[in-house]
Amino acid sequence: MSDHLILIPVFNEAATLDRIVSGVRRHGTVLVVDDGSTDRSAAVAGAAGADVLRLDRRRGKGEALRRGARDALARGVDRVVTLDGDGQHDPDDIPRLLRVAAETPDALVIGSRLGGEGARVMPPGRLAALRVAGFFINWLTGASIADTQSGFRVYPAGLLQAVPPRHGGFVLETEMLIRAAAAGWRLVEVPITTIHMRGRQSRFRPARDGIAVGVYLAGHILRRWGREMLTVAAALLRPFSAERRRPRHRAQAAFAASYRGNPAAWAVATGVFTLNCLVDTWRGWWRDPRARCLRMVGTATVATPLLLPLALVHALRARRGLHPAGAVEAASDSGSDRLAAFVRRVYCQQGLAPLLPEARSTRRWPAARPRPADHDVLVVGGGPGGATAATLLARGGLSVALVEREAFPRFHVGESLLPANLPLLERLGVLDRIRQQGFITKYGAAFHDQESELEYTFYFREGRPWPHYSFEVPRAEFDQILLDHARQQPGLTLLQPAVVEEVRLDADGVDARVREGGATRDIRARFLVDASGRDAFLASRRGRRRPVPGLGKVAIFAHFR
Ligand SMILES: Cc1cc2nc3c(=O)[nH]c(=O)nc-3n(C[C@H](O)[C@H](O)[C@H](O)COP(=O)(O)OP(=O)(O)OC[C@H]3O[C@@H](n4cnc5c(N)ncnc54)[C@H](O)[C@@H]3O)c2cc1C
Repeated sequence: MSDHLILIPVFNEAATLDRIVSGVRRHGTVLVVDDGSTDRSAAVAGAAGADVLRLDRRRGKGEALRRGARDALARGVDRVVTLDGDGQHDPDDIPRLLRVAAETPDALVIGSRLGGEGARVMPPGRLAALRVAGFFINWLTGASIADTQSGFRVYPAGLLQAVPPRHGGFVLETEMLIRAAAAGWRLVEVPITTIHMRGRQSRFRPARDGIAVGVYLAGHILRRWGREMLTVAAALLRPFSAERRRPRHRAQAAFAASYRGNPAAWAVATGVFTLNCLVDTWRGWWRDPRARCLRMVGTATVATPLLLPLALVHALRARRGLHPAGAVEAASDSGSDRLAAFVRRVYCQQGLAPLLPEARSTRRWPAARPRPADHDVLVVGGGPGGATAATLLARGGLSVALVEREAFPRFHVGESLLPANLPLLERLGVLDRIRQQGFITKYGAAFHDQESELEYTFYFREGRPWPHYSFEVPRAEFDQILLDHARQQPGLTLLQPAVVEEVRLDADGVDARVREGGATRDIRARFLVDASGRDAFLASRRGRRRPVPGLGKVAIFAHFR
């Protein structure tokens, strides 16, 4: 049995369903849920080789997805791939999404139509609505998702069991993002190809479905604002608490003490001190990332009631033929342009993304004075990069905490050392140990291009500051040696297996939340070294992981004798 099921909810798609099901079947078992179609959708899907589930009448996309998900779970699959029945998704993207899902089993994987050409072919009105909804959903979830309404997704079975969808219609997609994130699931986006079918009427009814999504979202936004307001109120009241008031009064008395003989000078000194405290506090609040986040979301929240009538007027004028909105050409229409520019500015997801990790933090606001550091340096990752950095820092007399997620030995790809590595291994004091391991010694390398049949062989040159040979190292052994060596350094604490889950940087250092076994602990360090390899810990957490343009490369590897 396949480990996944491909689920397609449809309503009156008989004209295109044969082509869609045939394309999708190449990638797994297909279940079509016919949402009470009045055409031959069910018969066409069955004839094309899909399993078919019929709803007695039209109950909406959400209900169709829910029924399909229940059926999939009953079949015992690990993942459920959902895609729309209107043919806008390319079935050949399914393997890519499944691969990402396999690599990130704790994530809901979303196919984004907004990478590459997608944003250009989407009608401007829908794009604007997507940006507005996405902005608020990202605030609520703490994720940075561009296409929050995409129906092309991979749901892990565990997510559907833990967070069974409740809502119908088009709300389900928004609901699942918010509830999955709240339950601790990651949201991961993968760019997909969008097939734009001119003249095809979308099943999404802006008035009915748009309002339903808006109302659902508004409920969550209001609840979140309620919580944020309580935090703000607590922050505003905290300066008056005894804990803060007493030391402030003592400092104030000390500051004004020398003017005690002169009431006017004393009053001025006390006033200056108080003003200084106020300015300090307000500056702290104003610059705090959480306050910046609230200002952005506050502006967007206030702007939304203004945006709605504007969008409505625009849509009505478009319907009467005054604007060609709804068509791709509308992008050049000046009204659309102004609306799009307004949306991009006020609901700027790129501006919000870097503030989100802080906005979710539960620390006191504004920042309490950081506690003293436990270590000089915290190193995330105990691969060759982390073990080397940690060893050198510890040898330099610093106190280092090194956190590695996996128990070693563990498999890793990347075995070929270069001669220039050897002086570094010597400097680490581990070269003799490496030599004793009996790794294959190599004097050069050969590259073979299977397609062109070209071969290129070279030998390492003599007379360099390093030897003319190197080693071929199974990484499980090599990484273990480096990490064992790091562990022996005085001043170095190794936590393994342990995961750095979250970090918060401030002007004096970093606070990290580290999970080890079942327990979580906080570690404070003056500096952070991110040696997490391709996890790119910091960049991923801050939504700053970006593909290098034009470098769409994939590494395929194999080992042979
Ligand atoms: C197909 C392929 C072939 C390659 N071949 C070569 C080669 O021949 N020669 C060569 O020099 N390089 C090669 N490389 C590159 C090489 O694999 C990497 O450069 C190298 O592994 C990087 O080492 P690192 O210590 O930076 O990261 P990694 O070795 O990936 O180590 C990172 C460590 O961080 C840990 N970690 C991640 N996140 C956390 C967290 N939040 N908390 C705690 N721990 C965490 C991980 O468990 C991991 O052990 C190859 C790469 C690929 C993909």
